[in-house]
Amino acid sequence: MFENAKFVIDSRQAFEGCIFVALKGERTDGHYYVREALERGAALAVVERIVDVPKEKLYFVEDTRLFLQKLAAQKIVRYDPKIVGITGSNGKTTVKEMIHRCLGEEIAFRNPGNLNTEIGLPLSILNDYRGQPYMILEMAMNKPGDITTLCRIAQPHVSILLNVGTAHRGVAGGDEQILKGKLEIVENMRENGIAILHNDPRILQRVRRRDFVTFGFQSGDYRLTSYVYEGPSTRAWYETPKGVHQLRFSTILNVGQLVNVAAVLAVFSVLNLQVDLTKLESFVPVSGRFRVLLIDEVYVVDDTYNASLESFKVAVETLKKLGERTYAVVGSIKEQGIYSQETHRQLGKILEQLDGVFVYNADHEIDSMECSKILLKSDEPEVIVTKLKSMLRMKDAVLFKASRAVGMEKVLNLFLGGKAE
Ligand code: ADP
Repeated sequence: MFENAKFVIDSRQAFEGCIFVALKGERTDGHYYVREALERGAALAVVERIVDVPKEKLYFVEDTRLFLQKLAAQKIVRYDPKIVGITGSNGKTTVKEMIHRCLGEEIAFRNPGNLNTEIGLPLSILNDYRGQPYMILEMAMNKPGDITTLCRIAQPHVSILLNVGTAHRGVAGGDEQILKGKLEIVENMRENGIAILHNDPRILQRVRRRDFVTFGFQSGDYRLTSYVYEGPSTRAWYETPKGVHQLRFSTILNVGQLVNVAAVLAVFSVLNLQVDLTKLESFVPVSGRFRVLLIDEVYVVDDTYNASLESFKVAVETLKKLGERTYAVVGSIKEQGIYSQETHRQLGKILEQLDGVFVYNADHEIDSMECSKILLKSDEPEVIVTKLKSMLRMKDAVLFKASRAVGMEKVLNLFLGGKAE
């Protein structure tokens, strides 16, 4: 009965004919909003308990979250696509977008980056999957167990485990928990599937299955051997079991992203897909995820969407290769919990390699960071941008980076000539 239905979990987004699913969240309970959803035109509300609306508008289930997940799993069984699951601390969205771009929308479905959780993934499958033969799915982990749940919905034939770093370590409960949680994508994939693993001993010594291939920087079955930046573009060399590739990317990709391309080449190879790699070469990162602009001969790096120690490291490494002088406007790395001070201490060390650092402390978590290169600390974008502009000259490179919650895009937008808000 739900075959072509569109599902909504936020009553404010309800529309004529949709199905409203009442979920209990941490802050509120969707059951309070059933009436509003119906008033906005929802045809039916899926609920766990009685709500004061006409009974015929209610569809009772024991667990609304499970209902969504099972329905999405049934849809997958119906179409039986080849599923590629991607997890890791950094680079999931970019890898997913790269694979999808090469395969094309006609044959490949992918979930949007913010729909990569136990609720988001089933919603995107139910609402937007059109039966394409491939599914490229980004799977996010906040805590151990999350990836297992996602694999129950969409069990991968090919599982990609990118780097395992320190992102969200405060929420996940520590670095060991992060590793354990991410390995679930390998433990819960199909029996006859193939895993594509970052060539990291911490990962490899924990993997029990035999059928996997590895990727990495100058190591692994699929490896980035070297790379150079040429103006606004990148040339990179790869070695794979099937031969050598030289790729010319039309944009600047950092070394982390370039290593991840080796995982992308591995996917095409293990799935035996002949792919037009020029589509990969013309890939441009999604904005906010290490996207490089060349403005008046200054490299401007928009990395405002998220931050972790590992992604800071690769960003700084690349910046050093790009600019004669290097600057960064930085903000806090969030979701570090009890590790916050230690994380920001390490961040300070990474930033020592630059010529100057501007701290945007709209939130004050970063205030504990010590770094001898700090030129200015301010919570006002105007103050930072004015000072930064007065210092920049041709051939410099400047990075804008912080966790999403910091709102670093305000500073970047102002720098680029727009408004702060
Ligand atoms: P995710 O979806 O996992 O958050 P994104 O594709 O949005 O990943 O990229 C997030 C950040 O991770 C970017 O700053 C990018 O430069 C960085 N990144 C990508 N690959 C790596 C890597 N292998 N190591 C470290 N950082 C990386």
